[in-house]
Amino acid sequence: MEQLLELYNTMGISPAVYNYGEEALARLQDRFAVIDQIAEHNQAKVISAMQKNRVSAACFAATTGYGYDDVGRDNLERVYADVFHTEAALVRPQITCGTHALTVALSANLLPGDELLSPVGLPYDTLQEVIGIRPSPCSLAEYGVAYRQVDLLADGTFDYDGIRAAINEKTKLVTIQRSKGYATRPTFSVKQIGELIAFCKSIKPDVIVMVDNCYGEFVETIEPSDVGADMVVGSLIKNPGGGLAPIGGYICGTKQCVDRCAYRLSAPGLGQEVGANLGLMTSLYQGFFLAPTVVAGAEKGAIFAANLYEPLGFRCVPNATESRHDIIQAVELGSEEGMIAFCKGIQAAAPVDSFATPLPWDMPGYNDKVIMAAGAFVQGSSIELSADGPIRPPYAVYFQGGLTWCHAKLGILMSLQKMVDAGLVKL
Ligand SMILES: *Cc1c(COP(=O)(O)O)cnc(C)c1O
Repeated sequence: MEQLLELYNTMGISPAVYNYGEEALARLQDRFAVIDQIAEHNQAKVISAMQKNRVSAACFAATTGYGYDDVGRDNLERVYADVFHTEAALVRPQITCGTHALTVALSANLLPGDELLSPVGLPYDTLQEVIGIRPSPCSLAEYGVAYRQVDLLADGTFDYDGIRAAINEKTKLVTIQRSKGYATRPTFSVKQIGELIAFCKSIKPDVIVMVDNCYGEFVETIEPSDVGADMVVGSLIKNPGGGLAPIGGYICGTKQCVDRCAYRLSAPGLGQEVGANLGLMTSLYQGFFLAPTVVAGAEKGAIFAANLYEPLGFRCVPNATESRHDIIQAVELGSEEGMIAFCKGIQAAAPVDSFATPLPWDMPGYNDKVIMAAGAFVQGSSIELSADGPIRPPYAVYFQGGLTWCHAKLGILMSLQKMVDAGLVKL
């Protein structure tokens, strides 16, 4: 303990900040134990799927060119399908990010004249152009797919009457975003998502339900595909990549839906048969193997942050005690100086680019200046410890990730230290 305090001290963390953190931690042991149990369950789930599919060294071999008969790639897709309990899976480095995976899933399963319904309010920023809510070339709207939205009720629950009224003969696909992303609504539990899916299917049994699963994977022991989703979709540089996947996305679901996604991603007739793995298989398998414990560490970091900042008077979403369904933590710091100090701390604690100083800047596509802190092995990876937010009231920083709990803890302590150093917090 003495030695650790000394080491932290040389890194800039004062005994006062460290001890304040330890007091918070002492209150969190029961919650952390539950997170460890979930991680243990999910770890066993992943290992069991790898054993069932006889993962071996042959699966890690690189392929190039067309990638016909790519044993490692095909087997990884079976492993994903078994973990998500779906008939099929498409898991590819050719899917460049989460937005791309969602775009493939939507455009493969919606045809001109069909209607897309979001019963959970406005989707994630990048999907607004995909759908055509904000006009864009090649949007679904341009291809004749209509969009309808039912907002959540004021208390954050589903507007069942509104949803019943919105589903019509043209409604082909229902999209449900699990994580709040960067909005202020709550993140939904898998159970809540299951209830919403059951409701939609009770009105229209053949409607396809897709869940944007970004940031939600492995936070619970079940996934939306366990409660009736026809497709679950996400990014490999978030949770399921475990920090090792350098690129990629996944779509797990019914064979019918996933086949169409494969035709959309490559070409009709080619589907899943093509797509070389380019030597990325070890990272994708090993990252998936690590993902349950990585997610657990990130979730502990989020809870630790809320339990450090909330008692100091900063509003936290989710708050210090409520249950969690994703790994994102918002902390309202109340001022630009607060956001800068917080982000400086996250940056200073990083293994990569710790010498950089994050500053607010005019980012393309945003109205307000944005500040970002990230020192990641995989560029832009948000399963690695990172923080960002637009410089506008309530001056909220969105904080997520951490490949290990120890790193997440260090980053949060360092953020608090920078707040103390700037005179914004008194312990
Ligand atoms: C991150 C995210 C996306 C988009 O993923 P990218 O990899 O950034 O394209 C979509 N939906 C949600 C809820 C997200 O958190």
